[in-house]
Amino acid sequence: MKLAGKPSVKSLSLGELETAFTAMEQPLYRARQVLHWLYEKRAASFAAMTDLPAALRAQLEERFTFAGLETVRALGSADTTRKYLFQLPDGALIESVLIPASPALYGLESERLTLCISTQVGCAYGCKFCASGLDGWSRNLEPGEIVDQVLRVEEAAGERIDNIVFMGMGEPLANFDSLLRAITIINSPWGVGLGARRITVSTSGLAPQICLLAEQPLQIRLAISLHGATDEIRGKIMPVNKKYNLQTLLEACAYYQERKKQRISFEYILIRDLNDGPEQAGHLARHAGSLRAKVNLIPYNTVEGLPWERPSRERQEEFLRILKRAGVAATIRREKGHDIDAACGQLRRQTQRDKSLQNVPTSVN
Ligand code: SAH
Ligand code: SF4
Repeated sequence: MKLAGKPSVKSLSLGELETAFTAMEQPLYRARQVLHWLYEKRAASFAAMTDLPAALRAQLEERFTFAGLETVRALGSADTTRKYLFQLPDGALIESVLIPASPALYGLESERLTLCISTQVGCAYGCKFCASGLDGWSRNLEPGEIVDQVLRVEEAAGERIDNIVFMGMGEPLANFDSLLRAITIINSPWGVGLGARRITVSTSGLAPQICLLAEQPLQIRLAISLHGATDEIRGKIMPVNKKYNLQTLLEACAYYQERKKQRISFEYILIRDLNDGPEQAGHLARHAGSLRAKVNLIPYNTVEGLPWERPSRERQEEFLRILKRAGVAATIRREKGHDIDAACGQLRRQTQRDKSLQNVPTSVN
C-alpha cells in the first residue's frame, strides 16, 4: 500500500533511489547519502539528514513517506525473549519477536540474536493450529514495512540483530515481490548489511514460489513448515496441502537444494495425538533422509480458542529418537517465548481483544 499515494523511502533500492534523484535533477551520490542516513545513522526523519540541502529535504518529504511503524506494545519474558507489537499507518497491527537464540534454535551454530518478522497482516492460508490465520488475511506488507521491523527492534534493543527469520505473521512467499525487495534492502551493503545466510524464509509450502526463490541469486536459507509427513495428516491441518501435495512440495525442495547447493530445514510442530506418533516420525525420517534436510521439532504452543496441545516430554523425545536413529539431523526447539504467547499472531489477537488499550484500533481492514 502506498500511503497517501507516496511510497515509503524504506521500500526503495539504491537503483530506484538513483532513478528518483535523476528525475529530481539531483546528483546520483545523493541516493547513497540518503541510504547512509537511513541504514547507518538510522535517521528518524528527512529533517535529520542535515548534510542534505533544505530544499532537497523538503522535496523528499513531498515524494516519500518515512516512518511506517509505531510501537504499541513491547513485552519481555523472563528469559528475555521480547515481543514487539507495531501499528501501521492504516491502523493494522503486526508483530516481531526478538529471540536470544540457543545454539540449537533454527539450526544455527552459536548464541545469537534472532529476529522473527512478519510479512502480511493476518494470513490467508488458514492452517488449523495457527493464530495468524484465525482472522484471515487483511493485506500484504510493503517492503519498507518489513525493513522497518528490523530498524525499530534494533533501535529498541540497542543491539544489532544477527539473524532474521521470516516466521512471523503471514506467508512470506505469498508476498513474493515485497519479500524479495525487503531482503535485498536488508542484505545489501548500502542497506542493513546482513549476510544472506543469516536470513531464513519459512513457508507453508508454496511449491511454485519455492522454485522461483531457488532461481534468485541470494543464498538465503529456506525452512519448510511440514507438520505432517503424509498427505493424510498434513491435509488435516494445512489446507495448502490440497493445492501442493507432499510430493509436489518435496520436488520443489529438491530443486531448491540443487540450485542453491544448500540444505533446507523442515519445521515440524508436535501436536498431541495428531502428528506425534512413530509412524509419522518414520515417514518424516524418510523425507528428511532423501533430501538430507535438517528437522526442527517444535512442541505446539497452545492458542486460545484452538483445541490442540503439545505431547508429553517423553513422547517428544521418542519422536526425536526415531529421527536420530534414522540418521536425520534433528533437534527439539525449546522455544523461549511461551509465557508471552510467542507463536505468531498471538499477541496481536490478544491486543485486539484488550479493551483497556483505548488507542489500539480493533479493525485491521
Ligand atoms: N507462513 C509461514 C511463516 C510463518 S509461521 C509458515 O507457515 O512457514 C512460522 C512458524 O510458526 C511455522 O512453522 C508455523 O507452523 C509455526 N507456528 C504457527 N503456530 C504455532 C503454534 N501455535 N505453536 C508452534 N508453532 C507455530
Ligand atoms: Fe499462515 Fe504460516 Fe500460520 Fe499457516 S502457519 S496460517 S501459512 S502464518
